[in-house]
Amino acid sequence: MDLEQLGLPRALAARLRGHGFATADDLCACNARELLDLPGIGPGALATIEAALEAWGRRLAVDPWAPYVCARHQRPTYDSSLTGLFLCARCQTEYGDLLGEPEFTSGETYRGFCAHCNRASTLIRLVQWYFCGNCERKVRSLGRGIAAHQHFARMWEEVVAPQLPDIELIEVDETRIRLAHEMTDNSTEDFEALVDGEVLAAFELKSGRGHMLRAGVGPLATSFQLDTTDCDGIYRIAQKYGRPTYLVNVQVVNRYSPPTVRHCGLEVVFADLWSLDDAWRDTRPRPRERKDAAYFATTMFRPLSALATHVLSDAFEQAAIRLREEGPPPLYRPAPRE
Ligand SMILES: [Zn+2]
Ligand SMILES: [Zn+2]
Repeated sequence: MDLEQLGLPRALAARLRGHGFATADDLCACNARELLDLPGIGPGALATIEAALEAWGRRLAVDPWAPYVCARHQRPTYDSSLTGLFLCARCQTEYGDLLGEPEFTSGETYRGFCAHCNRASTLIRLVQWYFCGNCERKVRSLGRGIAAHQHFARMWEEVVAPQLPDIELIEVDETRIRLAHEMTDNSTEDFEALVDGEVLAAFELKSGRGHMLRAGVGPLATSFQLDTTDCDGIYRIAQKYGRPTYLVNVQVVNRYSPPTVRHCGLEVVFADLWSLDDAWRDTRPRPRERKDAAYFATTMFRPLSALATHVLSDAFEQAAIRLREEGPPPLYRPAPRE
């Protein structure tokens, strides 16, 4: 079939002839990357060529070096690599519904802990998808985030609820797997404490490997790092409700149960808005990333066991009044720009 019969715009057909293409077969011998390498052929021209070929039931050659499609971005990225996760049957379904069929699912089942929901199961399978570097980090962090939520809710029941029986803790922002383009709204708090259905206080959770107040294990953290976008999220939550808002940090450590891992919550600490603001030390770009992080002194934290006493104190009501009258404190100062 001659190039003319494809019905390409005249200028594009002339450009292709200039590159030595005479027939549709010549085009179909090439792949998309090779066409894009030619002068004057951009993504728009490529899309036109692909559409014209498709109308005749033809397509470009498969690129043997094509990048793999990141399952979370749903587009090819050159840093995509095959990533394995040990998931329980329920999470396999949840991931599969969102990301599509996995590239591989182990025939064998294992006894251990699910990398996502952290539950013990005898039906764990190794499941693999392609993820870009960023998405692999995101996906691998979900299990730790869920463990932090589970641990906070459990510790609330154990430590806080006996002193505050009329207060109900509810999880607002559930951690789940999302596609990369699904915007997450970081001005939604992770938990709310309610009294008769009214918001009494809001809690935003963070998790890390270190502990702040010697109530955990391993090396003691020397400072607390929080992305400035997360600081802005906490500020907006406080502004939205005009109710005391707290940063909660949960130490999460790995306990291996080969071939799986269990994320275990240990130390739980909290900081109020003004302590956070007072403890700010520095803001600087995060290494190898475009994000800025704010650094705080760990002295701003108090143990979770002090929360109930704090909520029952005058300081709590005064904080609510101050928030209503003055709004939240700035929490951090931006990084200096050269
Ligand atoms: Zn699971
Ligand atoms: Zn990705």
